[in-house]
Amino acid sequence: MTQSYVIIGDGIAGSSAAETLREEEPDADITVVTDEGEALYNRILIKEFAKGKLPEAPISIHEPEWYDERDIELKLNTLVTDVDPDGHTIETHEGETLSWDKLLVSVGGTPTQLPVDNSDAEGIHHFWTFQDARKIRSHMEEADSSVVVGAGLLGIDLAAITAAQGVEGKYLMRGNCWWRYALSEEGGEIIHNALRERNVEPVFESGVDHFEVDDDGRVTTAVDPNGDEYDADFVGIAIGLDFNTEILQGTDIECDNGIIVDEYMRTNHEDVFAAGDITQFHDVILGERAQNGAWGSAKEQGTIAAKNMVDYGTEEFRWVSSYSITHFDFPFLSFGHPTLGDDEAEAKYSDTEWRRLAFKDGKIVGGVLIGDLAPQSKYKKLMREERVVADQKDVLMQEQFEIEDLDLEEEAPVE
Ligand SMILES: Cc1cc2nc3c(=O)[nH]c(=O)nc-3n(C[C@H](O)[C@H](O)[C@H](O)COP(=O)(O)OP(=O)(O)OC[C@H]3O[C@@H](n4cnc5c(N)ncnc54)[C@H](O)[C@@H]3O)c2cc1C
Repeated sequence: MTQSYVIIGDGIAGSSAAETLREEEPDADITVVTDEGEALYNRILIKEFAKGKLPEAPISIHEPEWYDERDIELKLNTLVTDVDPDGHTIETHEGETLSWDKLLVSVGGTPTQLPVDNSDAEGIHHFWTFQDARKIRSHMEEADSSVVVGAGLLGIDLAAITAAQGVEGKYLMRGNCWWRYALSEEGGEIIHNALRERNVEPVFESGVDHFEVDDDGRVTTAVDPNGDEYDADFVGIAIGLDFNTEILQGTDIECDNGIIVDEYMRTNHEDVFAAGDITQFHDVILGERAQNGAWGSAKEQGTIAAKNMVDYGTEEFRWVSSYSITHFDFPFLSFGHPTLGDDEAEAKYSDTEWRRLAFKDGKIVGGVLIGDLAPQSKYKKLMREERVVADQKDVLMQEQFEIEDLDLEEEAPVE
């Protein structure tokens, strides 16, 4: 009997799942449903578009013909409003019901709104879709002053966009350091200086109490909890994601700030799988539940989910995630889970070179490298192999670190 697969979401997780399903099952019915008006594009590159550095075309990954050629049905502009796992159906906003034998939920998240007055005013932007990037770019081209809120990986993209567009900006942070859960002040200062050089001023121990607007409802000012006022005709907010689990409300599918899946990307329902940013997955390296927010990880999860939808237990998700930032004159890379762990080591080598590793139970679970990325593959290998190395921090932190300099058991616990 022909199997039918439905995938909700045409981001990198959903799209790679569709591609793998077609490779594995030449005769299956495959449908991809997305509420966006365009097929898969490179979400990582939309910041370069918003900076004004890239035109639209190279950002697109798949044209609708890509789906036609593979006999995959693509439904654009179609919001899934309900999932019935036991009836094996989903419902769309137009009232259409689609049946499936196996379902993949790869719906990602939606940027969190700031819970303050006027946070929905004209001129205040969130950043997730290509459409958001188009709006940001066109607004930026006429803006004079800006405020960015959210001291994380997406906030810094917004700050870099204001810098690239030559708009003077303030970057309001709640603590005393950018991405304070992964960087120390010493590492953070390298980023702060790079921002200052680009006319973006970090403001610490700040945030937003409320926004002020003009008579037309356009934002004019951000007022922080200290009462300080910052002119802003452009505001960018990136304070995190709300995961799109509402379509599973009322079902028995287990959710907890995401959809809970095992290492095969399966939920607690045997025919329902999830992949990408939305998953709270069993991380076999970490030995506990984890969540990733990175392109490579979402792509791999889509592929792994598809293989296990066809034949459950075929392949587990074993992955060290990476995320790089390319806005500055020096490279920046974070890997694994740099905000977790029970121990750490860090070292500074020059004004633009710094490193930090996070350990759990003596094993590397993540890290951040600024300036010199040469050791990244060695650290990631140690993490993948689950080597106990935290007792050799002095060796790990050597500028020219080599795995051979460590005193290791011959056999890796995991290859
Ligand atoms: C500006 C920006 C820069 C980034 N930079 C990097 C980077 O440098 N490196 C890196 O590794 N990662 C980066 N990321 C993160 C990376 O893009 C994500 O981790 C990845 O795209 C997640 O893919 P996904 O398929 O899980 O989810 P998404 O790409 O979010 O796709 C989910 C899709 O599902 C759709 N959807 C949601 N609900 C429904 C519904 N009910 N019905 C139908 N469709 C629905 C959504 O509209 C969306 O199209 C960046 C993200 C952004 C926004």
